[in-house]
Amino acid sequence: MSDIIQLLPDHVANQIAAGEVVQRPASVVKELLENAIDAKATTIKLIIKEAGKTLIQVIDDGVGMSVTDARLSFERHATSKIKNAEDLFELNTKGFRGEALASIAAIAHVELKTRQKNDEVGTEIRIEGSEVTYQEACATPKGTSISVKNLFYNIPARRNFLKSNAVELRHIIDEFHRVAMAHSGIRFDMYHNGSEVFNLPVSNERQRIVNIFGGKTNEKLVPIKEETDLVTVSGFVGKPEYAKRSRGEQFFFVNNRFIKSGYLNHAVNAAFEGLLKDKSHPSYFIYLKVDPKSIDINIHPTKTEIKFEDEHALYAILRSTIKHSLGQFNVAPVLDFNR
Ligand code: ADP
Ligand code: MG
Repeated sequence: MSDIIQLLPDHVANQIAAGEVVQRPASVVKELLENAIDAKATTIKLIIKEAGKTLIQVIDDGVGMSVTDARLSFERHATSKIKNAEDLFELNTKGFRGEALASIAAIAHVELKTRQKNDEVGTEIRIEGSEVTYQEACATPKGTSISVKNLFYNIPARRNFLKSNAVELRHIIDEFHRVAMAHSGIRFDMYHNGSEVFNLPVSNERQRIVNIFGGKTNEKLVPIKEETDLVTVSGFVGKPEYAKRSRGEQFFFVNNRFIKSGYLNHAVNAAFEGLLKDKSHPSYFIYLKVDPKSIDINIHPTKTEIKFEDEHALYAILRSTIKHSLGQFNVAPVLDFNR
């Protein structure tokens, strides 16, 4: 008899986990933006070079990290956001798996600078392929700056499979939009190759949507609002006459987290029944607030799919809320399809 099982070294385990968490530069952008939000930042800056292939940097003015935490943040399953399994049912943060930084540091060159408000000096750490190569005190503003360079430098197959800069940038902008729409009270700036792409001042949800999608969006939006024991619904649907063939602007946010749901999308379409041209899709920006206990976010590492306890009720509420709002705004089912 001989034993053949061994525990994988951390850097190998991290690299495997990274395969799930980090599909492309946009995944890094999402994780870093979410960390900045969890750190209660009020201003978040995203700096990208070559569609994130050479640099993704996120600078926030949040709570920062202590010297020890700065080092620990790159360990797998290291998180300040939950302490035990029960906390999973009370989640008020974007993160909780403690996997993102460990994963990213396994497949990129990472530089972290961070300082807490009451500390005189901050900490700088550099990590390559899960190895800390540098850790010193440094001068840095309150908050955290993380730079992720040369993503997938040690996984040539992944690097080679990245799409063109135009495509990867599109994915990054999509993530940026989603996060920015879910947090209209935070200021966001984005730069690509030295040029400003977005500057989104602190505002409300409507103004944030308009800042992102352009001034003309304002006249397309019909507000929706409903409050029940199960859910608070707010946000906007696009007037039917603006519906498009492409499924561009369709967003669900649950407790300020962008999610995808074919089922809820169906509820929206059902509300628009009879109002749309064949094969056209309404736009919508829908914010749902539910008790964290009634959802399970932990079904996929990227957390864009969630399970609702009472999906059927949610469907019915959403459908009737939207129907009602469309009716109130005198969006009659008779449309001149030739205009
Ligand atoms: P998670 O977000 O799931 O906790 P991460 O790997 O993304 O896992 O981050 C690990 C920990 O590092 C976080 O729990 C947090 O304590 C700390 N951290 C990460 N990014 C920041 C940031 N921008 N500001 C302050 N703390 C941070
Ligand atoms: Mg995180």
